[in-house]
Amino acid sequence: MRILVISDVHANLTALEAVLQAAGTFDAVWCLGDLVGYGPDPNECVERISALPNTSCIKGNHDAAVTGEGDVEYFNDEAGSAILITRELMTPANIQYLRELPEVQSMKTATLTHGSLRHPIWEYIIDPQIALENFPYFETQVALVGHTHLPVAFIMDDKNGKIHRRTFKPNFIFPITMKTILNPGSVGQPRDYDPRASYAIFNPEAMTWEYHRVAYDFQEVQKRILKIGLPEKHALRLSEGW
Ligand code: ZN
Repeated sequence: MRILVISDVHANLTALEAVLQAAGTFDAVWCLGDLVGYGPDPNECVERISALPNTSCIKGNHDAAVTGEGDVEYFNDEAGSAILITRELMTPANIQYLRELPEVQSMKTATLTHGSLRHPIWEYIIDPQIALENFPYFETQVALVGHTHLPVAFIMDDKNGKIHRRTFKPNFIFPITMKTILNPGSVGQPRDYDPRASYAIFNPEAMTWEYHRVAYDFQEVQKRILKIGLPEKHALRLSEGW
């Protein structure tokens, strides 16, 4: 079984389409939140993702802010103004879709959330210590998170209880043998200085994680970001991936 794992699409339809094309055939889609915010295509991304077969989608902090559940004041100026513009752009039906998304979803083999297991919407799992503190909060072998926009794995070593942090080269197939927290990186706004869209394929029977990157036409997205009056920063950062 091939499960396409995506996160932090951030209203970037061009990047999303590139990922869907590159991913080939898949049996299900797990989307780890932040469908909107920063980018120009919030309605299109919600409609595209929700129409994919066997989609399970989680609510991110930007999604919560757009629906009015999260406070815009928690965001910096540029992120906050993107949220206000996104709210104006979105249809009531698509905002309702975001409102109904769960913060955590437990599948048979994996637990899905946006930020962290103990603070689903807001906490960033950025280092082994924060990862370690989150391991008691899930029972499946695998937890899948987004939010940092950085593709990474935190592996709990059964022998000594220590956490190993691992990053992967694209197209690498990682066998998951221990309890692991995995982040597929961001589709629509990567922050590891690689501008290509990031995604993964999880195979729960083989217990493997395939990590991938795909180039897309970010210049076309940058033009549309500026055209609708979103902050220039959100356009600039797409060229370099920060
Ligand atoms: Zn995000």
